[in-house]
Amino acid sequence: MSELELFKHHISSPQKVVITTHHKPDADALGSCLGMANFLLKLGHEVTVVTPSDYPSFLHWMKGNEEVLNFEDPKEQPLAIEKVKEAGIIFCLDFSCPKRMHGLLPYVDKSKAYKVNVDHHQDPKDFADFRYWSTAAAATCELVYELIVNIGCKHMIDKDIADCLYAGIMTDTGGFRHPNTTKNVHLITAELIDIGADNTKISRLIYDTNSINRLKFIGFAITRRLVILQDLKTAYFKISKKDLKKFDSQTGDTEGLVNYALSLDGIHVAALFTEREDGIKISFRSTDDVAVNKFAAEYFDGGGHKNASGGKSQLSLDETTEKFEILIKQNYTSLFTQPELVHEK
Ligand code: 5GP
Ligand code: MN
Repeated sequence: MSELELFKHHISSPQKVVITTHHKPDADALGSCLGMANFLLKLGHEVTVVTPSDYPSFLHWMKGNEEVLNFEDPKEQPLAIEKVKEAGIIFCLDFSCPKRMHGLLPYVDKSKAYKVNVDHHQDPKDFADFRYWSTAAAATCELVYELIVNIGCKHMIDKDIADCLYAGIMTDTGGFRHPNTTKNVHLITAELIDIGADNTKISRLIYDTNSINRLKFIGFAITRRLVILQDLKTAYFKISKKDLKKFDSQTGDTEGLVNYALSLDGIHVAALFTEREDGIKISFRSTDDVAVNKFAAEYFDGGGHKNASGGKSQLSLDETTEKFEILIKQNYTSLFTQPELVHEK
């Protein structure tokens, strides 16, 4: 039996299913979880989505959002643990490095459930029984769509599922702008729109529901917290805990900020350093021929895609940005000119 047939066999009879994703889920993470959840519910499974943390309110419109259990919420954690313990199948979507489940990891680790990993990130760890993985995919939602089609269930994708999957593809391609926006992406989104995905509405719900605090925060960050190193083709934002507090920042408010740095003419590497309770969270972005994932992995305990990576630091905010500036100088040649990095997929 092929792995795909075996997967089909596992989901052919009703099971207790848990679906999870990475800490601080984005639209692709939550969209793939709820898209898959709504599909499995139609197959008759008992499905619980457990997220390792909360997620931005601009994702709350997705069907099934109300039933999602947030592992970091003390009121929801006991039920989340119980659901993981009794699950027969666990889906891990939009991550390939188990550490990204944070506090949920030991429970998923201990579970004897049949584990499924659907993802599009580099360097996957071998932790699942069935892996549906491709870095050629722009989004995990694209792979979830393909997986459902490949097991012969395309006819079961309804408007709610299509809405969830569309959201992940739209955001992970940066609104169909990044180099990962392939012909396949357009073909799949066309299918999703045909099924009923409300593309205009989803775009408004995700991109155009800012609070005034968030807009003021973005204005403040651009005028006061942006460092431009024009000679190094690099620009970065440095956001302290105090800054976040001043604008009553909510989960998701820093999303996309790093792109303003990358949008500057002559800038090919951008970063966002955010001071959080548990250390400094870093986002890296680059233009298409510059790879930041190796840089993130080597120096900031992170990784990700060639043009969009992340990492962390336990140094202070000032020390972290100092270290970053030194490393950009040291790695200038390899980042911007070395052929093996330039041509890496
Ligand atoms: P973001 O900057 O949006 O948080 O993350 C961009 C991409 O970088 C994510 O899609 C993910 O692939 C990757 N990423 C972010 N944080 C980490 C991390 O701590 N470790 C690894 N391996 N990848 C990360
Ligand atoms: Mn993704």
